[in-house]
Amino acid sequence: MDSALWIRSYEDIALPIGLDQTISQPYTVARQTELLDLKAGQKVLEIGTGSGYQCAVLCELGLNVYSIERHRPLHERSREHLRELGYRPMLKCDDGTLGWSAYAPYDGIVVTAGAPVVPESLKSQLAPGGRLVIPVGDTSSQHMHVITRLGEDDFQEEILSGFKFVPLIGREGW
Ligand code: SAH
Repeated sequence: MDSALWIRSYEDIALPIGLDQTISQPYTVARQTELLDLKAGQKVLEIGTGSGYQCAVLCELGLNVYSIERHRPLHERSREHLRELGYRPMLKCDDGTLGWSAYAPYDGIVVTAGAPVVPESLKSQLAPGGRLVIPVGDTSSQHMHVITRLGEDDFQEEILSGFKFVPLIGREGW
């Protein structure tokens, strides 16, 4: 975060990271990570690298992390910070609503921006038993959808109470 905000960095709130985006509230990062329910060595895709904080948490859990950010300055800054801190995720600057098919399937996919609908591309890149954790709603509030892939065209969906994210912008987003 910007050094002017360091004094607030341990508060459980969303803080600005530039380009009208925010680092998610730490509680939300923890909750989404918990809902992924992954074990060390599994493969996870994050949509919305932002500051790189959630990405670092996923790396700390021993996961193989892939993360996509659509804003180039955020992508570049988080890439630099993550490298400085010794994390080795695979990062790319692109529209994450389409997923990252080259490395699919994933044991977990976490979307850290609010979507209008669940992108079909992301569902199709889940491994059998894999989970997609994605906030879906309008631009003012969302519910967390936890979608588990049971078979080729068989998905189970659980919906959890209100969250507030910045919008997911893209082909299968806003
Ligand atoms: N996980 C981040 C949260 C950042 S906020 C963190 O720990 O800091 C959500 C991020 O999603 C923003 O940086 C925004 O630019 C990005 N985003 C929005 N739509 C996107 C899309 N279609 N593809 C990739 N990133 C997207």
